[in-house]
Amino acid sequence: NAPAVLLDVNGIEVIYNHVILVLKGVSLQVREGSIVALLGGNGAGKTTTLRAVSNLLAGERGEVTKGSIALRGERVEKLGTAEMVRRGVIQVMEGRHCFAHLSIEENLLTGAYTRSDGKAAVAQTLEKVYAYFPRLKTRRSSQAAYTSGGEQQMCAIGRALMANPKMVLLDEPSMGLAPQIVEEVFEIVRDLNAKEGTTFLLAEQNTTMALCYADYGYILENGRVVMDGAARQLAENEDVKEFYLGMG
Ligand code: ATP
Repeated sequence: NAPAVLLDVNGIEVIYNHVILVLKGVSLQVREGSIVALLGGNGAGKTTTLRAVSNLLAGERGEVTKGSIALRGERVEKLGTAEMVRRGVIQVMEGRHCFAHLSIEENLLTGAYTRSDGKAAVAQTLEKVYAYFPRLKTRRSSQAAYTSGGEQQMCAIGRALMANPKMVLLDEPSMGLAPQIVEEVFEIVRDLNAKEGTTFLLAEQNTTMALCYADYGYILENGRVVMDGAARQLAENEDVKEFYLGMG
């Protein structure tokens, strides 16, 4: 029996500035406990899709004008970002967005702001994050601005984990990182998925790496899903090999 569908995006259209149609009917499903990759080149609509799920489009003058988004069968496309966070959906934006002037530990703690289960529980999660990211523990007192790109990406993911997420939306985690660090980040994602059961939807231009770690993949082109399938099948597909592998 396949696990239940956690996120169901059904035929969404997204328009920016009332005129620019960017998503032209995107549908995808993310099952509970899976890692799903959203692939495609620059401007294909990956970021827009993730933002639509977290209701982060308004700040970009974007709007879902058609279709629906459901979380565990419940419609959520009209909810605010804070409510999505409360329901366990946390976004890690592209470019990482650590607070440069705060220490790594202070950055991590900002991720727990929505929790109301007390300091001890938060401290426990912090230790858990450090167990997954030993590098962050070493750098806990360093100002984020003076840490490496890889450490900042880890910090951004760690901060998302501080909210005890059910699902993490990860936008281009490999962006700007050396291949070895990309692998380190993906290994941790796999670990979190296996041990914590955290579900991941990740947007990636690094198709090769993403398909290595994902269970399932969707390929976006010009605002439409042009192909989807089990990650292993996509990795062996001739069209995917020709057009996407080696990108990123
Ligand atoms: P990238 O890897 O470059 O982020 P992407 O697949 O994530 O690419 P999106 O960022 O979703 O793609 O962009 C999809 C299209 O929407 C692009 O043509 C982009 O120029 C356009 N777009 C994105 N944000 C806005 C905005 N705020 N206003 C107008 N157009 C936008």
